[in-house]
Amino acid sequence: MSAKKRVFTNKKVNYLPRAVITILLIVFLYVSYIFIFHKPSLNFEIKNVISLNEFVISIFEKNSRIKNIDIRLISKDKNFYKFNIDSLIANHELQELNDKKLKLIFNNDEEAISFLKKNDGEKIILKYEISYENLFFDRILINEFDLNVDVSPPKIFDVRTDGYVYLGGIGYVAFKTSKDAKNTYLENGNGGIFKSLEIKKNDYIDHLIFFTCSNIPCKQNKIKIISEDMLGNKVQISRKIKTIKNKKWSNIKIFLDKGMITDKYNEIFNSNLDDFTKEDFLKLNKEERLINETYINSVTSKISAKKLFDGKFKSLANSKVSSEYSELRTYYFKNDDSTILDKQYHWGIDLSSVKNDNVYSANRGQVVLVEKTLGIYGGVVIIDHGIGFYTLYSHLDTINVNKGDNVDKQTSLGTTGTSGFAFGDHLHFGVFLQGTPVDPIEFLDKKYLGIKIFDPYLKFKGED
Ligand SMILES: [Zn+2]
Repeated sequence: MSAKKRVFTNKKVNYLPRAVITILLIVFLYVSYIFIFHKPSLNFEIKNVISLNEFVISIFEKNSRIKNIDIRLISKDKNFYKFNIDSLIANHELQELNDKKLKLIFNNDEEAISFLKKNDGEKIILKYEISYENLFFDRILINEFDLNVDVSPPKIFDVRTDGYVYLGGIGYVAFKTSKDAKNTYLENGNGGIFKSLEIKKNDYIDHLIFFTCSNIPCKQNKIKIISEDMLGNKVQISRKIKTIKNKKWSNIKIFLDKGMITDKYNEIFNSNLDDFTKEDFLKLNKEERLINETYINSVTSKISAKKLFDGKFKSLANSKVSSEYSELRTYYFKNDDSTILDKQYHWGIDLSSVKNDNVYSANRGQVVLVEKTLGIYGGVVIIDHGIGFYTLYSHLDTINVNKGDNVDKQTSLGTTGTSGFAFGDHLHFGVFLQGTPVDPIEFLDKKYLGIKIFDPYLKFKGED
């Protein structure tokens, strides 16, 4: 018995210190782990350069609690700008997220802007101090790194434009920018944005922008040219653009036969409705139209670098224009002119000739869209003619081409018909510039195309 007891005692004497050491080691490792890893970290969404663009910092608390943050930009001559974290929190620019991530966005701060402008082109230091606590410690984290300041936007110069557009027509502006321009575009003030064609030279970039103000004059008779560098430094200039109102858009009343419109509705939505209401008409004429036009806009917004078209655009042979661009249509049910059902603009021209007439591509280009049933547009083909110009052919009965086909004025695209929201056999012909519908009539006029598109384009390419 006593021997056994002695053995037990011996064991206790041998192992207890090891157990204590092990526990102490585990405690030490745990505390060290807390010390090393349970501390906040800052992630700056800028690399080496700071600009006037937004300045985003993500702060991760990581099992710690931040008590105070001090972030400052320090110039070579020891001047500094201190970010006011409290006001950012008050302005909701600092948002607490689920994963304890705190996001700071520094915007429109006059003091910051003047500090950065003073140090444009210089190196500055970004220094931060965060006091925090975790399970065991109360500490301060200090770190700093270098940043280059670049708050100079690109320069725009040598601006040339003939300064006018026809209603629904094309305008152009040519200019140069400094080489740091990364994103250059034009705004017409009516929601249209037009990207520039660019040729890179040794010391500058040559730009040409074709634009339209759509069926109304540009907002305040002005266009804005905007150029941004890689950091988002932005410059904006404006130019006066006179709109020549050489035509008056027409207004027409359309009286719908309930039986015929019900058949169209059922054809387009593949349904068998019989009691047709105003709501049904709005579903077709407003909702479906908007869906179709948004889709067409997305297809025709891209700008392909190569100009494929030349000479005037070809119209449907021996046809007459039965409906104009920008015609404002007011819809009523037949025998009820007291209730306006809807009002819509017509974003193309309707060309009528013989039934199931051959439709040729208006110019050289590439087929970018073929749809047998595109809502109110029915059978549709869209051709990309390059440098932002597109043509659309709608209500087609048959289609002879496929997406990707290269076409010219001799290529038959299909035949006219009444597919979609059309009653009599006709071709709906649309021309788009970077997603915005323009008046196709001007594309059938050689002189107009020369002045507004080919001459400026030749001059732009010739400077190459
Ligand atoms: Zn039409």
